Amino acid sequence: MTSTGSTGRPSLLLTGIGELSTLDPELGLLHDAAVVVDGGRVAWAGPANRAPAADASHDVGGRAVIPGFVDSHSHLVFAGDRAEEFAARMTGTPYSAGGIRTTVAATRAATDEQLAANLARLVAEMQRQGTTTVEVKSGYGLTVHDEARSLAIARQVTEETTFLGAHVVPPEHADDPASYVDLVTGPMLEACAPHAKWVDVFCERGAFDEDQARAILLAGRAKGLEGRLHANQLGPGPGVGLACELGLAAVDHCTYLDDADVDALASSGTTATLLPGVEFSTRSPYPDARRLLDAGVHVALASDCNPGSCYTSSMPLCIALGVREMGMSPAEALAAATTGGARALRRTDVGHLGVGAVADLVVLDAPSYLHLAYRPGVPLVRDVLVRGRRSVL
Ligand SMILES: [Zn+2]
Repeated sequence: MTSTGSTGRPSLLLTGIGELSTLDPELGLLHDAAVVVDGGRVAWAGPANRAPAADASHDVGGRAVIPGFVDSHSHLVFAGDRAEEFAARMTGTPYSAGGIRTTVAATRAATDEQLAANLARLVAEMQRQGTTTVEVKSGYGLTVHDEARSLAIARQVTEETTFLGAHVVPPEHADDPASYVDLVTGPMLEACAPHAKWVDVFCERGAFDEDQARAILLAGRAKGLEGRLHANQLGPGPGVGLACELGLAAVDHCTYLDDADVDALASSGTTATLLPGVEFSTRSPYPDARRLLDAGVHVALASDCNPGSCYTSSMPLCIALGVREMGMSPAEALAAATTGGARALRRTDVGHLGVGAVADLVVLDAPSYLHLAYRPGVPLVRDVLVRGRRSVL
């Protein structure tokens, strides 16, 4: 095989793969496998003894290889942390949406350089744990200027950027939330749309109600931003129904669902993104992944990495929690963390290792992907290829 990729880089044969999970289709398990990467894409995948030649080769020594994780939900543009709030919560103070305001104050006070450096640190931390595609939201600025700069900074690390001006009503609008919705759907959206692919709303008691969420999602759509939604996290609510009604790509959290919510998800194309790190970190009941999967709902797992309710960046932890606490099989959890996340971002080029996919691969220091759930808390990521390039770990 010659260098045919658009980058002109030499092709690479990754061989000695003890277990390859292509996720194309489903788990797509192969043993004694090889992958050829060319031009940043998967050019070939199959049995090692039938692999075509390439310019260079690398033997992974019988280890397992999986697609890079697609983390479709994170809040990484912020300053400060809330370790004290976490400690208080663990000794009896319940989580509420209002804690977001602490991070808003710190974020507004930070420079662009400080925000960008913290974001880069977290994205690198994610990559060391196997995440190769990440969605990043704004939502800790809550002024026209601070939301727009948050998204401009996020755009430097990912194309999956989400305008979340409707995260919480900031203190200066507390007496008149309607004026804040006007700001979000007007000048703030105008300033943020050039830097964002998505629009999102925290539809929850204490944040934004159904009518406000609908207005913000439709205003975003009119500006070319497709919608996603935070909903049904802290209690039952109208968010999941609204997400399905509007045909959003994803509705995230889905912890408190009634039968109508599950039916709506099953009959819509909307992905239910489960964020078990939140329930772990707030000591709350987990969403019921088994019920959703059995109903035929598309399920994704994501980190929701943020400084308040869940400050983990670890997709392997989410997989372990999905299996241990939410009734998922290890195969279902891996799929939710790869193809599920891709679906939640309406991407078909990442989250699997079919021919033509972006060559985002993770080599595990383990003989099987099963070890992701079987060995929780153990750093199993040995090597990561991002667009076919070995990243330095
Ligand atoms: Zn979130």
